[in-house]
Amino acid sequence: MRAHLLNDATAERYRRSVTEGVERVAAKLTSIRKPFTGATPDTLAPLVSAVDLDRPLGDASAALDELEEVYLRDAVYFHHPRYLAHLNCPVVIPAVVGEAVLSAVNSSLDTWDQSAGGTLIERRLIDWTVGRIGLGASADGVFTSGGTQSNLQALLLAREEAKTDESAKLRVFASECGHFSVEKSATLLGLGPDAVVSVPCDRDKRMRTVALAAELARCRDEGLTPMAVVATAGTTDFGSIDPLPEIAALCAQYGVWLHVDAAYGCGLLASTTRRTLLDGIEHADSVTVDYHKSFFQPVSSSAVLVRDRATLRHATYHADYLNPRRTVEERIPNQVDKSLQTTRRFDALKLWMTLRVMGADGIGELFDEVCDLAAEGWELLAADPRFDVVVRPSLSTLVFRYIPERVTGPALIDRANLHARKALFASGEAVVAGTSVNGRQYLKFTLLNPETTVRDISAVLDLIAGHAEQYLGENLVHAS
Ligand SMILES: *Cc1c(COP(=O)(O)O)cnc(C)c1O
Repeated sequence: MRAHLLNDATAERYRRSVTEGVERVAAKLTSIRKPFTGATPDTLAPLVSAVDLDRPLGDASAALDELEEVYLRDAVYFHHPRYLAHLNCPVVIPAVVGEAVLSAVNSSLDTWDQSAGGTLIERRLIDWTVGRIGLGASADGVFTSGGTQSNLQALLLAREEAKTDESAKLRVFASECGHFSVEKSATLLGLGPDAVVSVPCDRDKRMRTVALAAELARCRDEGLTPMAVVATAGTTDFGSIDPLPEIAALCAQYGVWLHVDAAYGCGLLASTTRRTLLDGIEHADSVTVDYHKSFFQPVSSSAVLVRDRATLRHATYHADYLNPRRTVEERIPNQVDKSLQTTRRFDALKLWMTLRVMGADGIGELFDEVCDLAAEGWELLAADPRFDVVVRPSLSTLVFRYIPERVTGPALIDRANLHARKALFASGEAVVAGTSVNGRQYLKFTLLNPETTVRDISAVLDLIAGHAEQYLGENLVHAS
């Protein structure tokens, strides 16, 4: 079995096996014609169940042949221009090279003695990111597993900084379009069930600052403690960006921690044409960025950044076997002192490779392209009487619904849109997302693939209209 250990004696097997895996994926890239095959859990589950995990195949070739059947053939491929559903990006090649290197070397970024230069590379990228945000000289941060963890850590720091012992009195303010991880974090942090105050949005799905001001005043009047305001820079559904300067001013007035959730909008940090959309983010006490969304990085790659590095002490715990107190005096950089995780991937390497090969402008250019595409898509939808489109996009999402020419009931229109999404997924021709707006069923394109064209958008809209029409046709017949 030692032949399978990666070491000096097996370098050749390593090279061969990894190359074979890469070849399989490369073959997929050049052969698939649709983002998905339409496989169902019922068709795939027996294939996966039939694999006898106690009978190994012995070599990578055989395992890869099997993998073709149980995974690669029916995977959902984000590089396909008609994958338009969630915040998944096609990945850039330099990052994939980084991924291959980091998992083979397998550095763990908790301590210096498990990573050495890896720690310094991560720190440089944190400094680079806080520089782009403009958080100032005392800023710091750490890579995380994703936006959910970044938001949790930011709110943990905010809770510890809030000057009260009564956690039941703490309130967190986020817009009604904020991410659900804010609520999840509040629960994990032991805040009360009413801790998260949902602030209404305006027509453009941006937090209404007048409403936030009223809620903050009410909070104070009721003797409660405002713990944090979570402003979203790129809501998951609409890509809308809350008015950061106004929110920052209110936070300063009330002495409240400002967290900016830029999990989606962080790509603007690299944009040479749209960076101003993030103006005000420099006032944040903490920021979430997901490089695995708008920086075209493979999952996972994310970070939480803070204005004042001293606040990270709330995540610091010492273990004699790992990061004893004296290592702080010895100035040994142990990233575990800043992280919720212990053993931690060297995800930073992917971004490092990306910046060293393409540069930030390269990333920004790709993100700008998808934002431009969304603007064109909006024009298309707004001019098409078959569709109702919700907001003009600031980033790269489009939320819309099919509306039939003939007048039908709202519930039937909901079902027709739901059906269209499901039928499209089953056909595998395209993958789109869905969401609800004012209680009604809508469809969503999240555009993160610069290879997607307006023609793709137009073709997918025709497919959606076709499926919806067919459903309405059948169901109106049944009703009559
Ligand atoms: C995606 C997203 C998150 C969660 O990030 P994960 O990386 O999926 O954990 C949080 N906030 C916003 C606004 C997001 O779009």
